[in-house]
Amino acid sequence: MMAKKHIGYIENGINIDHIPHGNAWYIMKILNLFSSSSQAGVGLNLPSHKLGAKDLIKVEDRTLTQKEVDIISLFAVGSTLSVIKNFVVIDKQILHLPPEINDLLVCPNKRCVSQEYNSKFRTFIKSINERSCTGVKCHYCEREFLLEEIKEYKF
Ligand SMILES: [Zn+2]
Repeated sequence: MMAKKHIGYIENGINIDHIPHGNAWYIMKILNLFSSSSQAGVGLNLPSHKLGAKDLIKVEDRTLTQKEVDIISLFAVGSTLSVIKNFVVIDKQILHLPPEINDLLVCPNKRCVSQEYNSKFRTFIKSINERSCTGVKCHYCEREFLLEEIKEYKF
């Protein structure tokens, strides 16, 4: 007898693969996995030819809105998002950096007016020592930060 709800195989849901390792936590927060009843499988530090190490998230009975895809993409540039129906991949896309992220990041500039409003950041790719990183620029104070410098989120 086959165990229908074995998380190794998604019957209906999503699979996000090739997540830069360490970033699964953010995506789990965005997907609200800690407090939802969705069955999920998370792999951390899995071997990857492309990345060295990768994270992986599978969620049963879950679909994503375009807004959720954009927010997830911020932490998963180059990752693969597959949508699965009846055990078959019906859609597969590579995630790209969204141009703008609204109301998710808290500006590290404590004097920034965005502390009192919804935050708004433009995103860009910043290259540091030949390593490309995601940069974000606050719409209000116009300061630029690396994504890893953002310490607070409105999850
Ligand atoms: Zn700001």
